[in-house]
Amino acid sequence: MAEWAAMSIRRLPAHLVDRIAAGEVVERPASVVKELVENSLDAGARRVEVRIEGDGTGRLQVIDDGGGMSPAEMRLAIERHATSKLPGEDLLEISWFGFRGEALPAIASVSRFTLESRPAGAETGWRLLLDSGELQFDGPAAVPPGTRVTIEQLFGRVPARAKFLKAPRTEIAAVADVVRRLAMAHPGVSFLLLHDGRRLVDVPAEAEDGVAGLANRVRALLPAGADAVPVDFLREDLRIGGLAGLPAASRATSEQQYLFVNGRPVKDRQLVGALRGAYSGRLAAGRHALAVLFVELPMDAVDVNVHPAKTEVRFREPARIRGSLITAIRHALDAAGLRPAEAVSGLLEAALRSSLPATIAAAPPPLPAAPPIPHFAEVAQEWVPLARVSTAPVALPPDAARYPLGAARAQVANTYIVAEADGALILVDQHAAHERLVLEAMRGRAGGRVQTQPLLIAETVTLDRLSCERLEEAIELLLDLGLELERFGPDSMLVRSVPAVLGLPPLAPLLQDIADELGDGQGAQTLADRLEHVAATIACHGSVRAGRSLDIAEMNALLRQMEQVPASGTCNHGRPTFLKLTRADLERLFHRR
Ligand code: ADP
Ligand code: MG
Repeated sequence: MAEWAAMSIRRLPAHLVDRIAAGEVVERPASVVKELVENSLDAGARRVEVRIEGDGTGRLQVIDDGGGMSPAEMRLAIERHATSKLPGEDLLEISWFGFRGEALPAIASVSRFTLESRPAGAETGWRLLLDSGELQFDGPAAVPPGTRVTIEQLFGRVPARAKFLKAPRTEIAAVADVVRRLAMAHPGVSFLLLHDGRRLVDVPAEAEDGVAGLANRVRALLPAGADAVPVDFLREDLRIGGLAGLPAASRATSEQQYLFVNGRPVKDRQLVGALRGAYSGRLAAGRHALAVLFVELPMDAVDVNVHPAKTEVRFREPARIRGSLITAIRHALDAAGLRPAEAVSGLLEAALRSSLPATIAAAPPPLPAAPPIPHFAEVAQEWVPLARVSTAPVALPPDAARYPLGAARAQVANTYIVAEADGALILVDQHAAHERLVLEAMRGRAGGRVQTQPLLIAETVTLDRLSCERLEEAIELLLDLGLELERFGPDSMLVRSVPAVLGLPPLAPLLQDIADELGDGQGAQTLADRLEHVAATIACHGSVRAGRSLDIAEMNALLRQMEQVPASGTCNHGRPTFLKLTRADLERLFHRR
């Protein structure tokens, strides 16, 4: 974009025109805004202002302080396939937003279109006015440097198109979404979106550049109280940075997922799928993680020219991108591990809002580092199933100040463990916590198999035929998870061994649930996803149920195990596994300060 000033507009050669994916870019006000704001950014604007009225079709304006156009360039800009932006002829090397030269003519053909512009240093500006693509006015205009595009009566003469518009509120929300995404990728540019005079987006240009500016911009645009951990992943020429929402802060829609490839906002299906994969086993079905992820890779490793609105991309090595994204997010979440999720303070805040001044919302200080944490694979080796825990050596009673989760003091409702840690009160949901631990143990198989425990006498389990077929098909996969099965007649399965972490769960419901899970997940899912889901199903069966009474030694064993395991702060369904009330929290609750 720095070379902007040196370039001039010219026609695309016909063979290139043909190669460029054809497609409609003007679907709704939001797509118009997207094209116009991208043009402003391409023109090097430092300030972009969008004004819309009503549902966006009556009047819509994008004003920038970018490089502007001469009258001749303006006339060319409204011709089809005129662009200033394709320096070479290699479509893979495209780093500008616009490269097709068809947005302006397409928009002009379905509206009353006013283009006003003045290049920096020019004496005066120029104005073109088109009605449904017909030139109505071509003459000088007193305008400030930069460009102003005004769209009126969008789809006024194409009622068929207008019919597809959704409720005004939805259209305006889509406009705000577009502006927010572009603003997130351009911290150095100030953005203002005004709807009927109301400021929907208003962010000043960030003074700092680089990551600091980006972080400020992202914070300014995310909803308040979004609980997330930083992602920073670098491998060879691939970098993934940004924020991954904590499972406990999940949402019912994917609206709060902001994905960028080389600075360009995308809604790419592969990336969205990878994101889902990264959270699989950590989010309940139908929930979506909040995420802001910037994927950076060499220009020739990605093709952005596959979608007319450029929201989908094609990676040269899709599997590598997917794998890296999953690793990046999992690392980030695991690193957040035992720190009681900021989400916890959020939960507390909601629960206590009535009795507290809103001071608790501040992120809690991180817990003191736990005693040296061995690599998880090692821990998994020494895994002690809770069922057998009372015979295991356990420090009793532990020193409340030494361990992050402290010393168990009591159990409430046979479901919650109450512990004391350095003046803080810790509450643990025993079922959720144990389920998380079992799942992590199954994940910790590090490429190999989960440790199995052979049954002394193989057990037969009777199920319906379809379930048996599903299990039979998955025999290899289940073996990796430590479950050894064999088909035993039309409606039964023989169980030879079970994952060692499980103890000895009732087998019929376990197999039935796995079969159901396998049935649900047929088709699109990758093997990794299926493994993950089945592991989660198995984990649920192996877990100590709510309602079981535990003695102090068992409770302490559970706390110590939680401290050893990354990501034990939330259960497999994204609920927190424990809550922490610090001494300061308690004092506030009792109005001691
Ligand atoms: P594209 O962006 O694909 O090149 P457009 O139809 O969006 O096609 O724009 C055509 C040309 O008009 C651009 O290449 C650019 O040279 C010029 N242009 C459009 N909007 C602006 C703007 N806001 N500031 C300066 N030049 C612009
Ligand atoms: Mg454009």
